[in-house]
Amino acid sequence: MRIGVDLGGTKIEGIILADTGSVIEKIRVDTPGEQYQATLEAVCKIVDQLQAHSSSLLSVGIGTPGTLSLPSELMKNCNSICLNGQPLQKDIEASLGYAIRMENDANCFALSEAHFGAGKDSGTVFGVILGTGTGGGIVVNRQLLTGANHIAGEWGHNSIPHSAHELIAEDRTCYCGRRNCIETVLSGRGLSQTFSELTARQLEAIEIARLAESGEKAAIDCIQRYCQQLARCLATVINVVDPDVIILGGGLSNIAELYRAVPAYLQDFVFTDVIHTRLSPPGFGDASGARGAACLWDSVRANSS
Ligand SMILES: [Zn+2]
Repeated sequence: MRIGVDLGGTKIEGIILADTGSVIEKIRVDTPGEQYQATLEAVCKIVDQLQAHSSSLLSVGIGTPGTLSLPSELMKNCNSICLNGQPLQKDIEASLGYAIRMENDANCFALSEAHFGAGKDSGTVFGVILGTGTGGGIVVNRQLLTGANHIAGEWGHNSIPHSAHELIAEDRTCYCGRRNCIETVLSGRGLSQTFSELTARQLEAIEIARLAESGEKAAIDCIQRYCQQLARCLATVINVVDPDVIILGGGLSNIAELYRAVPAYLQDFVFTDVIHTRLSPPGFGDASGARGAACLWDSVRANSS
């Protein structure tokens, strides 16, 4: 048994995961809004409550919105900005009195799917979050690839390829300070901006998807454009990582059209004749960060984090 905690922008979810992959206990609480100390205490309280279910100390993994900057071990790239610049892992370990492991939520999503979900029979898995942000994680033979800069898989902040640039009306500025990051096109906000460019109407991504399902032409055109953008951005990943499966997570992964349209659009942009990489919805719904966090002690080398 292992403990996994997903520290999200609105909820903190903690679970006890059995070796079989089933969830034995689950606790969910609201995330204290942008208060570092209160967030730290809420995470440690959940862990303590879960540890109370076991007679022996369980390993603890935690998924977070951002990641640790090395060598300072201060948080970076968090959209919950109260965490940025804070020694979150050290503070949690000091409070609990033992070591934990921590990774960003996209890495935890990829691990969860690679161990128990849609990638459990695949050697190389690229997990993608398409939601408020756009993240990614790479798992090879059930081991997370972290990288020299601890940013492996951070595909959302690559610039969109030229082939996708021709599908936007004007340059877009990302919260990270760069221009035309993939996230500015493929996040929920990116989809809304594309719809606005095409129709001069402001709608949330979920409404655009619903209108497309109901047959509204402008929404259908917008979703098809999104599928083309996604294909062109994923083609760059396939040409480098060549994964067996790409698994989509996050709220936008619920758009069924992605799985119909994107594989066909990939054909023109991947450097091969027949594409064997599968595009799959997630095995555990659009969020399974706590499950992946619980796998961190089995899936990350001690000297790589
Ligand atoms: Zn960016």
